[in-house]
Amino acid sequence: NIAGAFEDAPDQPEYDDELRPSRLNDVVGQAAVVERIRILLDAARKRNEPLGHLLLDGPPGLGKTTLAMVIPKELGTDFQITAGPSLSAPKDLLPYLTNASEGSVLFIDEIHRLPPAVEEFIYPAMEDFRVDITLGDGLNARTINMQLQPFTIIGATTRTGMLTAPLRDRFVSREHLSFYMLDELTTIICRNARKLRTEISEDAAAEIALRSRGTPRKANNWLRWCRDYADARRDGTISLEVARHALQMKGVDDRGLEELDRQYLETIMTVFNGGPAGVQAIAHTMNIPADTLEDEIEPYLLREGLIQRSPRGRIATMDAWLHVGRTPPDDLRP
Ligand code: ADP
Repeated sequence: NIAGAFEDAPDQPEYDDELRPSRLNDVVGQAAVVERIRILLDAARKRNEPLGHLLLDGPPGLGKTTLAMVIPKELGTDFQITAGPSLSAPKDLLPYLTNASEGSVLFIDEIHRLPPAVEEFIYPAMEDFRVDITLGDGLNARTINMQLQPFTIIGATTRTGMLTAPLRDRFVSREHLSFYMLDELTTIICRNARKLRTEISEDAAAEIALRSRGTPRKANNWLRWCRDYADARRDGTISLEVARHALQMKGVDDRGLEELDRQYLETIMTVFNGGPAGVQAIAHTMNIPADTLEDEIEPYLLREGLIQRSPRGRIATMDAWLHVGRTPPDDLRP
């Protein structure tokens, strides 16, 4: 009952997304990960056991939630969804655990943000499908054990490094999602244009892909924006020219960098002379949480070779100086 699960979903509209693939066959890219998940699914079905707990990590918008939702669909089991920040005490988690039916999936997004008390509460649930509930306090306190149905926790995190070792170790499988290739993004855009009943040319889809920073969520957002632009100002078809114009209006450059990305690079260059600069210092200067920089800005800039990480902080590369149209300092020049 996926629909019912949404009533408990954190109030983020992206959980309910018409563009989300609903079966494993519709998931584009991440071939090795998908193949391993198929094996886990087949084994679980053959043994008639729940899937082992699975941890998915990778930058936002790469398909962690999508995969977590596809798995129970493939198994024909129930699905529940919650997120680390909305579980402030064990009592917030308890209903999800007791509701979990046999073989069902409980998806915990941002699992690195579970408070320690909730984390400890989850250990016996993951290991022995059991919870220990303490009633009363002081001398009258007593603990009762409650047996749960065997079920599966799928955790998602943008930061495996922030997970404690005991929690990480309780996941039987761990999978890392990486940025998508251009042709994969182009495929996603073409498929989703069809779902949205919008006509798009192949070169326009490739153009949107190029500016989507390897991220399906970005690709979908840009597709929707280009569609709005095409409907509002043109004849509704997304041609290459329409896509270019619409994306230019949004300030997305030909490497997919947006205003905030360029501001980040400019901050390192102008305030910190190109770096190294600590992420906290950059965050303070930009007046943006360091978490946002680390989750949403830096991974793509690192992959593109626009910044480097050193023990002393972030450094803008030669490529970055040239990209924003500034003269690189002498010591960066070959
Ligand atoms: P995450 O949970 O990692 O932040 P999501 O699973 O919410 O990312 O993915 C964001 C959107 O991108 C989804 O709604 C879906 O439409 C699209 N998407 C993600 N991964 C894929 C994929 N492999 N194939 C097709 N579309 C995808």
